[in-house]
Amino acid sequence: MTVSIKTQCCIVGGGPAGIMLGFLLARSGVKTVVLEKHDDFFRDFRGDTIHPSTMELMHELGLLKAFLQQPHQPIAKGLMVVNGQVLQGPDFSHLSTQAKFIAMMPQWDFLNFIAVQGASHAGFDLHMGSEVTDLIEENAVVKGVIVQTKQGRMHVFADLVVGADGRSSIVRALSKMTVIDNHAPIDVLWFRLNKPKNETLEVLARIQNGNFMVTIDRGAYYQAALLIHKGDFGGIKAKGLQAFRDLISAIEPAFADVVQAIDSWGKVKLLNVQVSRMQRWYRQGLLCIGDAAHAMSPIGGVGINLAVQDAVATANILTEKLRTGHCTVEDLAKVQARREWPAKMTQRMQIMAHRHFFSGTQDNQTLAVSWPLRFALYLFAPLLRRILSHLIGIGFRPEHIKTQPTHSDGTFSEA
Ligand SMILES: Cc1cc2nc3c(=O)[nH]c(=O)nc-3n(C[C@H](O)[C@H](O)[C@H](O)COP(=O)(O)OP(=O)(O)OC[C@H]3O[C@@H](n4cnc5c(N)ncnc54)[C@H](O)[C@@H]3O)c2cc1C
Repeated sequence: MTVSIKTQCCIVGGGPAGIMLGFLLARSGVKTVVLEKHDDFFRDFRGDTIHPSTMELMHELGLLKAFLQQPHQPIAKGLMVVNGQVLQGPDFSHLSTQAKFIAMMPQWDFLNFIAVQGASHAGFDLHMGSEVTDLIEENAVVKGVIVQTKQGRMHVFADLVVGADGRSSIVRALSKMTVIDNHAPIDVLWFRLNKPKNETLEVLARIQNGNFMVTIDRGAYYQAALLIHKGDFGGIKAKGLQAFRDLISAIEPAFADVVQAIDSWGKVKLLNVQVSRMQRWYRQGLLCIGDAAHAMSPIGGVGINLAVQDAVATANILTEKLRTGHCTVEDLAKVQARREWPAKMTQRMQIMAHRHFFSGTQDNQTLAVSWPLRFALYLFAPLLRRILSHLIGIGFRPEHIKTQPTHSDGTFSEA
């Protein structure tokens, strides 16, 4: 037997965009179903960086203190080592935000934290292990989704379906709306590295002889990322694990011992990077946000934060419309009008970085860092740091919480 649910808003995807939107809508009295295909929030590594802009939103929600009690590593000034020379990366200490640092928080802790906040509101109905397989449409209007769960099929009917199901969004594919692909030239290899015994520097990125590696401090170990040319993983594998370990040791000799723990390709994960965006984010009854609407490259570590900003803007624009059952296609257009520019500008920066950081000759497995960029890094370091820290830490057109929480009797707090 197929179970049917009727709700005001059905969100497909329990990533940063979906969970945050679900929480905000439920907090303001909108009945919201969030469908996440995984059974929990543990999954492939997709970034850990919670930026000052997101923590500012936590502050506006009165949650910053509790948020910072979650496991995280604060990074105020990310150090970079460029061809052996230690440089300051972006410096967030001058930002006019409550938190003047990036919190490196495992994404599952972040998502769990928001989901727990959501669960304290009656309208928040999160279904884990629930994979959306199709849209329910009537006369070209989206009316709901078909969901596969372990217990069987479920139909969720809603006034609005939000596709927050990430870069490979099924909602986007089923809606048949046009996607513009900006062809990211890179992929990322992710792997864990134990910390070398005498490691004292907190280095976030290393650029050495045209190779770019990021190391995110996870307390007991580093989550490491090596940027490679798109499609090169096969060639790297063909050269063998020893050649891969030698490459990592060449980027950072201090890793020569710890990299020996990578003794199978199963310990190295390929992540396919995309930079794309939908031409139109909405149709009647349907809206896409986050990576579903604009897939972000990992450059700058901004994707999570942009997804959260999309969620806040969507809640600001649509909460009252959804609560009163009057959400029109013009209202959905307002969400795209608000968020398209920040997404486009951020993608432009990422595409520029792809071109300039990773231009040059391809020698099968390494990425060349162009000499003009190296020169610029040395020459304009202080100014670049300030601009970069603003663009990364706060971003274009930051959002603020404009929705009000409801009391248990459905009334609102005084503004
Ligand atoms: C290699 C890599 C590293 C990155 N590193 C960073 C970083 O350090 N910092 C940063 O800010 N950003 C980073 N990003 C970008 C960031 O991961 C994304 O921009 C961000 O996660 C987008 O959030 P989202 O909620 O829109 O989508 P997602 O995080 O992709 O969430 C989508 C959710 O939808 C679920 N889902 C998918 N299909 C279905 C379905 N059919 N039914 C139900 N549920 C479904 C998925 O399981 C997932 O939970 C990185 C990206 C990549 C590829």
